[in-house]
Amino acid sequence: MKFRDLGAQYEALKIQIDEGIREVIESNSFILGKQVTELENELAKYVGRKYCIGVGNGTDALVLSLMAMDIGKGDAVFTTDFTYFASASCANSVGATPVFVDIDIDTFNICPKSLEKAIEKVIKEGKLTPKAIIPVDLFGLPANFDEILKIAEKYDLIVLEDAAQGFGGQIKDKKACSFGDISATSFFPAKPLGCYGDGGAIFTDDDKVDERLRSLRALGKSPIDKYDNREIGMNSRLDTIQAAILLPKFKAFVDYELNDINKVANSYTQRLKEKFKTPTIPEGYLSSWAQYTILCDDEETRNNLQKKLKENDIPSMIYYPRGMHEQAAFSYMNLTDDGFENTIKATKRVLSLPIHPYLQEEDIDKITDVLLK
Ligand SMILES: *Cc1c(COP(=O)(O)O)cnc(C)c1O
Repeated sequence: MKFRDLGAQYEALKIQIDEGIREVIESNSFILGKQVTELENELAKYVGRKYCIGVGNGTDALVLSLMAMDIGKGDAVFTTDFTYFASASCANSVGATPVFVDIDIDTFNICPKSLEKAIEKVIKEGKLTPKAIIPVDLFGLPANFDEILKIAEKYDLIVLEDAAQGFGGQIKDKKACSFGDISATSFFPAKPLGCYGDGGAIFTDDDKVDERLRSLRALGKSPIDKYDNREIGMNSRLDTIQAAILLPKFKAFVDYELNDINKVANSYTQRLKEKFKTPTIPEGYLSSWAQYTILCDDEETRNNLQKKLKENDIPSMIYYPRGMHEQAAFSYMNLTDDGFENTIKATKRVLSLPIHPYLQEEDIDKITDVLLK
């Protein structure tokens, strides 16, 4: 059994994917070929943004977004303590300072109350200028944007949605990658919409930001002259081959994968909800299930369950084993566990189970049987 079965997906889409790759090679249009533009247009339309800019990976999508928003030295960038490292390190990459915020233990997403407290604290200390919030759509579930956008307005902060795991998620009829001022996603193979290597995209409604990002992803070149560089950018474009792979994958994602993965998640929840704390999806929210993560009673139970699954050849993961405030790379901040109680609780008790649109009922039975026993 696979944790995320990319092989099963390839079997289903092999003809279109192979054909797409071949077309790119035959056209010799490897850099920003027509498939990139086609994908950008389709994705922008799907998420409900004016523009989509394809870039090299999700990390660069975050860094380029901060660059395009003029965030830098002396600026505080608030993000969740419980996430993948890039959500936080992107702030350092532009010279800004990440400020970590505890999570809501039910959704695993940034806690709006703790966020406001963290902003007030930075204002009171007077060393940094509060500038931006990076809410993360963790495990496929959009962050609490109703509350976050109110806070952003109150303190005049930019909102950069880290939708690396969130593509396909929804709050009411609004899709992930459309929240806040700008959104970044990743096409890393295991993400909800993944390619066959590195890839990412940025979404915005702002004409000027779009133009600037197209320049920044190509070393800050001017739109008319490749050798006239206006500012320092990055070399970070989405490969044409990756775009050609993503086109049929995106179609399958919209046609049935997102629906099927929600069926898998529902099956898990039906079987497990009596005995485990299964994922909380707030009213009106839709998850794209980058992960299906249960919260065990304590660390020992979690570790025992993982051992039992392994004995039955069932892969499982611990996303994430430590909070940002515990990362060695951030040890210079001298942070303690103080104020990160929910992150700590989560790191000790979470367990992520295999999930993908091609997971079979008999596999779900096998997994849940082991857990319930
Ligand atoms: C994967 C991920 C990223 C980074 O994306 P890459 O394409 O791997 O660079 C950023 N944020 C979160 C929350 C992620 O899960």
